Amino acid sequence: MIAHSEATGAISGLSLTGEEARDVSFDGVPGSPGVAIGHGVVVYPAADLDAVPERPAEDIELELELFRHAVQAVWEDIEAVAKRLTSRLRPEELSLFDVYLRMLGDEALPGEVNNRIREGVWAQGALKQVVLQYVRQFEMMDDHYLQERAVDIRDLGRRLLSYLQEGEQEDVVYPERTVLVSEELTPAMLGEVPRGKLVGLVSVKGSSNSHVAILARAMGVPTVMGLVDIPVNQLDGKELIVDGFEGQIFASPSSDLRTFFQAICDEEEEIDRGLEALRDLPCETTDGHRVPLLVNTGLMTDVVRSLSHGAEGIGLYRTEVPFMIKDRFPSEQEQRQYYREQLEAFAPNPVTMRTLDIGGDKSLTYFPIEEENPFLGWRGIRVTLDHPEIFLVQVRAMLKASEGLNNLQIMLPMISNISEVEESLHLIYRVYHEVREEGFDIHMPKVGVMIEIPAAVYQIRELADRVDFLSVGSNDLTQYLLAVDRNNPRVAQLYHSYHPAVLQALVRIAQDAHAVGKPLGICGELAGDPGGALLLMAMGYDSLSMNAASLPKVKSVIRSVSKEWAVKLLKDVLLLDSPHVIKSCVDLALRNAGFGRYLRPGKSTSAALAEQAAP
Ligand code: PEP
Ligand code: MG
Repeated sequence: MIAHSEATGAISGLSLTGEEARDVSFDGVPGSPGVAIGHGVVVYPAADLDAVPERPAEDIELELELFRHAVQAVWEDIEAVAKRLTSRLRPEELSLFDVYLRMLGDEALPGEVNNRIREGVWAQGALKQVVLQYVRQFEMMDDHYLQERAVDIRDLGRRLLSYLQEGEQEDVVYPERTVLVSEELTPAMLGEVPRGKLVGLVSVKGSSNSHVAILARAMGVPTVMGLVDIPVNQLDGKELIVDGFEGQIFASPSSDLRTFFQAICDEEEEIDRGLEALRDLPCETTDGHRVPLLVNTGLMTDVVRSLSHGAEGIGLYRTEVPFMIKDRFPSEQEQRQYYREQLEAFAPNPVTMRTLDIGGDKSLTYFPIEEENPFLGWRGIRVTLDHPEIFLVQVRAMLKASEGLNNLQIMLPMISNISEVEESLHLIYRVYHEVREEGFDIHMPKVGVMIEIPAAVYQIRELADRVDFLSVGSNDLTQYLLAVDRNNPRVAQLYHSYHPAVLQALVRIAQDAHAVGKPLGICGELAGDPGGALLLMAMGYDSLSMNAASLPKVKSVIRSVSKEWAVKLLKDVLLLDSPHVIKSCVDLALRNAGFGRYLRPGKSTSAALAEQAAP
């Protein structure tokens, strides 16, 4: 709280001379590399009470009127729903709606919200305060029935909030260089910014390996995550610099600081232009070792970018991304269309589609999963095997989309035991036969599993016996091996894919997969890190799949070294016992090989420069 108020004061407060504070910096964690200079646009998740910021009412009468309008609208909605259901519900069930309507009476919730507005709080904030206070009171009650009423109150609160926020999002004006700022960014928010205007992203929640950060990397948008102490709503309209290399943002930069970061932007563009020449060259070491570079996709924009970067196929299509952008499950026909686009864009090269991996930090608004421990809970294959109707529709859409192209591969996420693989294979075969019987001329796709849970590392042979290929998900494997939530900025410094235990696990996977002769790829973020890619190639990974933005850099590094050199580097680092020393050792090797320009100055360097630049 102290940090937050200091930050709030720093940014809103005038200095003693009456000038606005400049070069105010905030530390988070890197989400997507690159530097962006633009103007902040603060967006809120729709109807999320917890995300409503504290803010004073600028015009109390207006706020009261807005709230009166919201109450009226929700009242009418509830009456309409009750009327629609009159013939289908018994009178005692219908009386539930009366409870809602009573809660909306002047004496109940609205009375208290109005009082807070009159005290000077804006309507959304007053609603949040009152609803959350009620929710806490109900949740503390011993009676189970009354505890459950907390859910009704929260729901009512959300309905009111959505009317209060009505029009708010539509009115958002996105400047030419928009830096989107939010408590918690969602893929849908990214999608709302008009094409070409989004230059940077800032999120209070989440960390480097949150899925929205992965999406940002795929789109090549510089991003900083986990900025827990920023005064979000005060960044609206402010000029911001997003340093996605170091995980820092600067508000209201001085011209010196702007010049410093503009130079970095220019240098990046120059590197990218230099790399374009590599597009059609093979990814091959100087001693002739070929490593196909594949791309991770989720949106169609990724496909366009990856084609222009020379990807040789898709190593991971995160099918949950199109699901996350919608407000309901996409139909089989809609899914078929998304999948066809991806398959067509890369045909005849392979396109690996992962079945829905929701849960953890990837939730669908229309299929909420509330759990104490979501990353260890109902996630990935666990959800879809419990809901075979979701799995079957998805596989049907994939198979139908592959007709005439035959470049589809299906991959199963979050596999922790053999029976999950067998059950999934059974369903896939069933769909295959049904779709063929319907007259589609399709081939049985290759099926693979993701190795991302430590248990799977010790069952490589058993898994490999049942499938056609394996692909390591190093993001989750790192999280589960090190017991570090990939999404929690507080422990971000412990999340280290160069940890000796992670490297040993990766070596073991490669040895066991090759012993049974099954192709092995990797699609976690480590593959897109130039140093990580060298180590993985040396371990014998057959293909590397990464976000489109990383691909040219990885290719240029691999093309400049011999496999023998990389194997020697791997041997050296496997003798080391600290992730930091391993990282320094790999960085040094990259520097010696002439790739120092891919390594950015440390945070201390940019902070020092910022200090120097400050008036
Ligand atoms: C992984 O876990 O490494 C992976 C590629 O999957 P995701 O990041 O989507 O969980
Ligand atoms: Mg994963």
